[in-house]
Amino acid sequence: MNAPRYEVYAVKYAHHERRAAENFIGGDPHDGPMPLDYFVWLVRGGGREIVVDTGFSAPMAAKRARQHLRCPTEGLRLLGCEARAVRDVVITHLHYDHVGNFDLFPAASLHLQDLEMRYASGRHMCDPFFRGAYEVEDVVGMVRGVYAGRVRFHDGDAEIAPGVSVHLIGGHTMGLQAVRVATRRGWLVLASDAAHFYANMEQARPFPIVYSVADMVEGWRRLRALADSPGHVIPGHDPLVLARYPAPSGALEGIVARLD
Ligand SMILES: [Zn+2]
Repeated sequence: MNAPRYEVYAVKYAHHERRAAENFIGGDPHDGPMPLDYFVWLVRGGGREIVVDTGFSAPMAAKRARQHLRCPTEGLRLLGCEARAVRDVVITHLHYDHVGNFDLFPAASLHLQDLEMRYASGRHMCDPFFRGAYEVEDVVGMVRGVYAGRVRFHDGDAEIAPGVSVHLIGGHTMGLQAVRVATRRGWLVLASDAAHFYANMEQARPFPIVYSVADMVEGWRRLRALADSPGHVIPGHDPLVLARYPAPSGALEGIVARLD
């Protein structure tokens, strides 16, 4: 590895109480609570700051009955990262909880998969099952980003900085991408919603919001192949991330986990 070794942080910005049955296809309604956390991620090193996903706003949290804890940009500021100055934002997919707020990053190129834009603006959105986690204003906003020359499209795998690459996984949505990062402990993979929870991946039980179950299952294999070990794969919504990884300081306990 000749690339810089990056620092990687998970920043929690929202929370949702729900039952385990809602997190698995064929979930057992007798199962107990299994809450979901919402994160954005910061990759920092070699003079670069790359933000992965932009979260959702307080009004969106109210609309969707989620507990909003802080604007994701405030969470990033706790790490000294100013959203207005960030040059690269990876949008793993266009679901409301990953792409809201992207206007708070006016200097950033937005890295998106071709297939995700096709999915979010194409025929599948005629069907409520597929469009449920999308917000039309987010998608229209991203189209405006295209016309403003801000979107950098990728078709499959692409290196966006030395030691930082995006990888088309699909599954959860048609064009979901994961992010692989060179760190001091090896190759780390931010799975985003290729795996909401460790349990989805470890027990091979798919999350019920899905475009292609086959691609989702294949995606877990892909994540493991990209990472140095299964422990180097970071799920997108699991509260265990904050339990398994240390806060960078006492003041950030329960808000930020350092993943590298
Ligand atoms: Zn999500």
